[in-house]
Amino acid sequence: MKLTVNKEACVGCGACTGVAEDLFEVTDEQVSVCKVEEIPEDKMQQAQDALDVCPTGAIVEVEEK
Ligand code: SF4
Repeated sequence: MKLTVNKEACVGCGACTGVAEDLFEVTDEQVSVCKVEEIPEDKMQQAQDALDVCPTGAIVEVEEK
């Protein structure tokens, strides 16, 4: 699973980093970025929590071909 953050939608609230600090960080530009290329198996729950907690739906799953 790969996740990306839609910078237009992200409001830099930090909720995602609160539940998934291993996967996301808020940059100096006040947008969150996903720190990992591929979500590791043992971080899937964190990834799901981040998806659930984001108030703007800015975290999106990257479709894999
Ligand atoms: S929870 Fe959503 S809006 Fe808040 S920093 Fe993370 S990606 Fe951005």
